[in-house]
Amino acid sequence: MELLFLRFLFGYIKELNKSMIKDFEKAPSARSSCISCKKAIEKGEVRAVEDYMFGRYLAKRYYCLDCSKKLIKDFLEEAGKYIDFK
Ligand SMILES: [Zn+2]
Repeated sequence: MELLFLRFLFGYIKELNKSMIKDFEKAPSARSSCISCKKAIEKGEVRAVEDYMFGRYLAKRYYCLDCSKKLIKDFLEEAGKYIDFK
């Protein structure tokens, strides 16, 4: 449910926010770690996926759920300065 909600939310904001998180997924292994806090992401844990350019190649990096929530919060606060929510 949390995964679906996060995808739904980012469907709205990713067009405004091209360099950031593209999707959320459940980690298929325990080999990744969060790019922000460096915490290991356990297998099955929800993580945010971000594409970035590594030299000439498109690579992926990941955020743990706590850090991706903080990114969403920061983004919405920033967006709120420009968007009149009624
Ligand atoms: Zn993190």
